[in-house]
Amino acid sequence: MNLIVFTDLDGCLLDHNTYSYRDAIPALNEIKKRMIPLIICTSKTRAEIEVYRKELALEDPFISENGGAIFVPKNYFPEKVAEKEINNYEVIEFGTNYDRLREILNEIKKKVDCQIVGFGDMNPEEVAKDCGLDLKKAGLAKQREYDEAFKIEGSDKNIAKVLNLIEKFGLHYTKGGRYYHIMGENDKGKAVRILTDIYREKYLEIETIALGDSENDFPMLANVDIPVLIKKPDGSHAKFEKNGLIKSKLVGPAGWNEVILNLI
Ligand SMILES: [Mg+2]
Repeated sequence: MNLIVFTDLDGCLLDHNTYSYRDAIPALNEIKKRMIPLIICTSKTRAEIEVYRKELALEDPFISENGGAIFVPKNYFPEKVAEKEINNYEVIEFGTNYDRLREILNEIKKKVDCQIVGFGDMNPEEVAKDCGLDLKKAGLAKQREYDEAFKIEGSDKNIAKVLNLIEKFGLHYTKGGRYYHIMGENDKGKAVRILTDIYREKYLEIETIALGDSENDFPMLANVDIPVLIKKPDGSHAKFEKNGLIKSKLVGPAGWNEVILNLI
C-alpha cells in the first residue's frame, strides 16, 4: 500500500500564530525517510508554498489557493498530466481568475453596508500586520491567482448578505482560520480527488490521509481514506463528521506530529 499525505498549512502543519512547523519535524522526517508523497493543500499562494517546499525539500505536487490549481513538477509522473505549463510545473487549473474575483467583490461592496477588506485592498505592511507575517512573506501572500482572502466588518446579518451575494454572482466562499475566501468552482476536495486519481494510475494501491483544521478543509477531508482534524489553539476542533475521523489531542503542528507518527 502506498500512502499519500495531503496537508493544510496554517493552523495545521504551521502554528496558527508563529507559522512554525518545528513541532512536526519528527513526523516530517519519518515521511521523508519512507518517501511518502507530502502534498501541501492550502489557501496560501503558489509563491508562499514554494518557500515551504524549498525549506522542507519537498518535490511532490501541491495545491494552491483552496484548490485553485494543482501544480505538478514536470516529469514527476511518467505521463504528462496537463497541457498548461507555468515555470517548471504542469498546471491543472480549477479556479476563477483573481481579477474577476476582485471585480465581483467590489460589486458586492457597493451593495452592502459593511466593510469588506481583501488582500488586494491592503499593502504588504497591512497584510504583514494582520497576519503576523514578515514583509517578504506578506508580499508572497498577495500574489494571488485564484482566490481572494478577505474580512468583513459588520453585523451578522450583513455578513450573511455578503456571503449570499457571492453565491448569487455564481461564485463560492469558504472560511479559513483567519479570513473568508471568495472563489470559483474550486475547493480543496475537488483538487485532492483529481490528484488522487492521477496517483492511482501510477500506483495501483494507495491510501490517502488528509490533515486540516478549518471549514475550508472539510471538502479535502471528505475525499480521503483517513481524515484528520487538528485541534485549534482554543482547544476545540472544527465541526466536521466522517466515519473514521481522527482528532488530534495536541494543537497545530504538535497535533500533526502526534497523528502522523501514530499512523505511519
Ligand atoms: Mg488551516
